[in-house]
Amino acid sequence: MTGPVPLVICGPSGAGKSTLLKQMLDKYRQQFGFSVSHTTRNPRAGEEDGKAYHFVTKEAMESAIGNGEFIEHAVFAGNMYGTSKAAVETVRSKGLICVLDIDVQGVISIKKTDLNPNYLFVKPPSIEELEKRLKARGTETEDSLSRRLEAAKKDMEYGDAPGNFDLVIVNDDLSKAVNTLENFLQTAYPALQS
Ligand code: ADP
Ligand code: 5GP
Repeated sequence: MTGPVPLVICGPSGAGKSTLLKQMLDKYRQQFGFSVSHTTRNPRAGEEDGKAYHFVTKEAMESAIGNGEFIEHAVFAGNMYGTSKAAVETVRSKGLICVLDIDVQGVISIKKTDLNPNYLFVKPPSIEELEKRLKARGTETEDSLSRRLEAAKKDMEYGDAPGNFDLVIVNDDLSKAVNTLENFLQTAYPALQS
């Protein structure tokens, strides 16, 4: 597959990955395409099937994994998530920069493939702030909130370890984080035009 290398964005749930991505995808709509993952979790208000995710049952997901349809897959906070080959090919066949929003397990799996993406880690200023953001987002139950915070602590260690990512952004002030991301993308993809 030719064309620009993909972009992987990773970071604790609630760090602000979707918020940052939305701004970039809105501004550079002609050049980026989102890899639509599969998940067994329930849709949140406003999440469209086929856009945010392909929302599927555990049985359907297991069967697709068995058929070799996925590049990587993982269990996160009790639900299955995965990147299908088709999700990435759909974006790359249009010549677009394919953006994958995946967890640390997904990053570790992707590093074993020949996808060779740029790796970006987004982290919150602190775990306390992360908890506040997740609570304010209003999408989690008490159980899923605590699972996500547990995962966040581990993932921050992986994110902070030298060499795992090309860039680590602390999403404290949103407009500063957007600027840092945009500068990184303009260096990584010199052909970028808004
Ligand atoms: P993720 O995609 O990483 O799970 P979201 O983009 O959904 O995270 O952000 C989690 C919550 O935090 C959302 O309600 C979002 O509006 C809010 N948020 C994102 N960035 C910031 C920021 N810099 N400061 C304060 N709140 C933020
Ligand atoms: P959420 O449920 O908040 O949308 O996502 C939870 C976590 O799953 C996030 O860390 C997100 O990056 C990750 N995730 C989303 N899609 C995939 C995927 O296809 N593969 C993997 N490994 N993780 C994913």
